[in-house]
Amino acid sequence: MSKTAIIIGAGPAGLTAAYELVTRTDIKPIIFETTDYLGGISRTVNYKGNRMDIGGHRFFSKSDRVMNWWLNILPLEENAEKVLSTSKIMILRKRLSRIYFLRNFFDYPISLSFDTIKKLGFWRISKIGFSYIKVQNFPVKNIKTLEDFFISRFGRELYKTFFKDYTEKVWGVPCNEISAEWGAQRIKGLSITKAIVHAAKNLVKTDKSISQKNVETTLIEQFLYPKFGPGQLWEEVAEIVKQKGGEIHFNCDVKQIETSNNQVVAIKYLDKNTNHEKSISGDYFFSTMPVKDLISGMNSVSQNIRNIASGLQYRDFITVGLLLNKLKVKPQNSEKLIQDNWIYVQEREVKLGRIQIFNNWSPFMVQDAEKVWIGLEYFCYEGDELWSKTEEEFKQFAIQELASIDIIEKSDVVDGVVIKMPKTYPAYFGTYAEFHQIKNYVNQFENLILIGRNGMHKYNNQDHSMLTAMIAVDNIINGNKQKENIWQVNSEEEYHEKK
Ligand SMILES: Cc1cc2nc3c(=O)[nH]c(=O)nc-3n(C[C@H](O)[C@H](O)[C@H](O)COP(=O)(O)OP(=O)(O)OC[C@H]3O[C@@H](n4cnc5c(N)ncnc54)[C@H](O)[C@@H]3O)c2cc1C
Repeated sequence: MSKTAIIIGAGPAGLTAAYELVTRTDIKPIIFETTDYLGGISRTVNYKGNRMDIGGHRFFSKSDRVMNWWLNILPLEENAEKVLSTSKIMILRKRLSRIYFLRNFFDYPISLSFDTIKKLGFWRISKIGFSYIKVQNFPVKNIKTLEDFFISRFGRELYKTFFKDYTEKVWGVPCNEISAEWGAQRIKGLSITKAIVHAAKNLVKTDKSISQKNVETTLIEQFLYPKFGPGQLWEEVAEIVKQKGGEIHFNCDVKQIETSNNQVVAIKYLDKNTNHEKSISGDYFFSTMPVKDLISGMNSVSQNIRNIASGLQYRDFITVGLLLNKLKVKPQNSEKLIQDNWIYVQEREVKLGRIQIFNNWSPFMVQDAEKVWIGLEYFCYEGDELWSKTEEEFKQFAIQELASIDIIEKSDVVDGVVIKMPKTYPAYFGTYAEFHQIKNYVNQFENLILIGRNGMHKYNNQDHSMLTAMIAVDNIINGNKQKENIWQVNSEEEYHEKK
């Protein structure tokens, strides 16, 4: 291998870049990862044989390149016997997610069914209907904030009932302080008209293939999933990278990026295994570390760029894994357990945002099939009241919240664990409006390539993070020094709000 690529971070973006380099070039990737695990936010946590997916990661992409890449690493297995006896496989999962509100389950995305009307009551439904008709006739003119975006799509009343509280739980700031861009990227083409059309089509639909490209992302009904959770795929990728000559160094926290003219020449990192600062040079530098930290570690940055970078904000995340004898909420059919993969908790009196039921993601995530293994998701800021609780305090707090909204009986809790993940959501507020200046600044360093979610401060899913890495390697292979095609991922027309 003639040249080296230094890669910061062993999440999906960093590992994809390394894989693409070892399989398509003779450039040697050397990854530095600050934690002792693989997969970044898309890791699998193994707690006493029970596995947690801290985000609830559907493996679904509109990109064939990504879908084929995943299936090349872990092939899809649909034969029930082979699923039992083979480890390195993807399984196909049905998606069910609902909203828990007023101690009832509502469809997600919310559907205008008789059941919804019954549960919401005539008065609420009338208000929702009138405010929706109103916004159709008097459209919101200047859609600047997320609140404008929701109201323009759904009407004020539906926004207040189903979107406002949950979104504010996620971001910790009012919707009228968040850029509408977030809605355009995340809610994408979803609208009431589309939800109705989708429900009607469902009645006659026979196509259950996994390529559901015409379906808006939020509506996708089935997805691929590694047998042992998302981290399994990334552990597999890491093995291939190492077998083919790449290196992965854990507990190595990249602190400084040394530049000279328009090149990065080296990085400095703290090797937490030995507590020594070390330095390494390279030919290419891929960064998936948060932009805020990257800029603060660069020399000769102007004060203006430093200020913008230090004003970038992130939302942090805590998941509580709880092992239970059973849930208090019961399915309406003969199943033992409700079938949801995850549940949005809209109840206003709790801070709990979502519940993951890991049994329904993959039964192989759970050691004892008689138990129910769930994850409770809390959104917070590093250092705030929630983040500062001890593990035991947090566990008790979460159990109390879950019991108070009638999802469990406290006496059914067998065990629990608390996992904290900093910087899970790059925020579209703070100094985000000035982000283009940072982009222009980093783009001038020819051999510095920003990829991934926090790496580009973009609300990317795994597939987008991976595509940025793939395109970055394409560029090296093709001798293309422009980086705009990397920045274009997840901002193409088809991902934006349809006018
Ligand atoms: C709640 C939730 C649900 C999600 N659901 C889905 C889903 O259903 N489907 C989907 O595809 N995606 C989903 N995602 C998104 C997915 O988790 C991310 O897109 C993906 O993990 C991003 O990969 P990445 O490599 O860009 O970043 P990360 O996963 O953040 O990896 C970055 C890595 O860099 C390391 N690092 C950071 N700083 C340094 C440093 N200074 N030195 C060395 N290493 C460093 C980190 O430790 C980390 O390992 C979800 C995310 C969340 C939070």
